[in-house]
Amino acid sequence: YESLSVAELAKKLHREPSEIIKKLFMLGVMATINQELDKDAIELICADYGVEVEEEVRIDKTDLDTYFEQEEIAEGDLEVRPPAVTIMGHVDHGKTTLLDSIRHTKVTAGEAGGITQHIGAYQVNIDGKKITFLDTPGHAAFTTMRARGASITDLAIIVVAADDGVMPQTVEAINHAKAAEVPIIVAVNKMDKPTANPDRVMQELTEHGLVPEDWGGDTIFVPISALKGEGIDTLLEMILLVAEVQELKANPNRPAIGTVIEAQLDKGRGSVATLLVQDGTLRVGDPIVVGHAYGRVRAMVNDLGRRVKEAGPATPVEITGINEVPQAGDRFVVFEDEKTARQVGESRSMTAIQASRSEKQRVTLDNLFEQM
Ligand code: GDP
Ligand code: MG
Repeated sequence: YESLSVAELAKKLHREPSEIIKKLFMLGVMATINQELDKDAIELICADYGVEVEEEVRIDKTDLDTYFEQEEIAEGDLEVRPPAVTIMGHVDHGKTTLLDSIRHTKVTAGEAGGITQHIGAYQVNIDGKKITFLDTPGHAAFTTMRARGASITDLAIIVVAADDGVMPQTVEAINHAKAAEVPIIVAVNKMDKPTANPDRVMQELTEHGLVPEDWGGDTIFVPISALKGEGIDTLLEMILLVAEVQELKANPNRPAIGTVIEAQLDKGRGSVATLLVQDGTLRVGDPIVVGHAYGRVRAMVNDLGRRVKEAGPATPVEITGINEVPQAGDRFVVFEDEKTARQVGESRSMTAIQASRSEKQRVTLDNLFEQM
């Protein structure tokens, strides 16, 4: 158990709550019957009674993470899926320009009059192969999402301006990517500038473990000018190459799971969330739990602002129909029926309320000893 109240623990131990409170008192803690105890505190009290705390083995239906861990998928159900790519780099090195450049050259072409809509991510199509770009600031995406245990990026593009070289946020970006164990492609940007010095960039990055292939390493460096749209095709080719080696696969024939990229409250539409479907297929009408929110997918809009009925693996879509605004990095899970989704959703939002209430008066082993 990660956490139990004094009353719950008493019940499990077949003791009176007053007895547990007495024991805590002997340990120097004034506790109330509703006080939450953390895992270590629970173990300490159980040890005192000579009871071993059994690890709970059954699946906690309300823990969305467990749905991400079930992987008994038959090989035959798996299909190749597009990579989800994050662009990171130092401020002013050209991240936004690059995202715009890719979007304009690849999204609008072929999509007659398609005006792209900002939903926090978009997809491009290169000769039938798709790439999903996360449009949220890369660092924020990595930090908030990783803080929540969600990893949604398959590949990181690190943009370095050739006239400026490696800067603090470049190093930060490299560290994020390394911690997440995702492959890195370096885009050496602003090559159109007379002061561009790509050799210096390569030299400096070598010191951070990114050695170009030409120098005997295994990091792909692509010289580009995001402003002039030069080198973008090569960059996209390299992304597809790395993705192919990664053999990214998903099962489109299962209920969808994935992660929230952005979410906000819209005056007319209510809670609006951009979701990245990571596995399965999301459909209009699906009963869904998103973080602590739940509901049924009412409408879905893609990155071109078009209404869609379904979204497969690695597709970003904006959805409405959930009761609350989730947070970036929250996970979502689709359930077979609305009843289960509502039960899980209600239980999760209750837990969230209780957790925020008991946060202050929570007894952990640390403050237990502090008080002793
Ligand atoms: P971000 O902070 O990383 O998102 O950087 P931006 O994309 O906002 O770019 C910062 C500045 O660099 C802007 O004035 C861009 O026009 C400029 N810039 C971006 N890419 C290039 C490029 O390839 N060449 C040149 N000359 N300028 C660029
Ligand atoms: Mg920017």
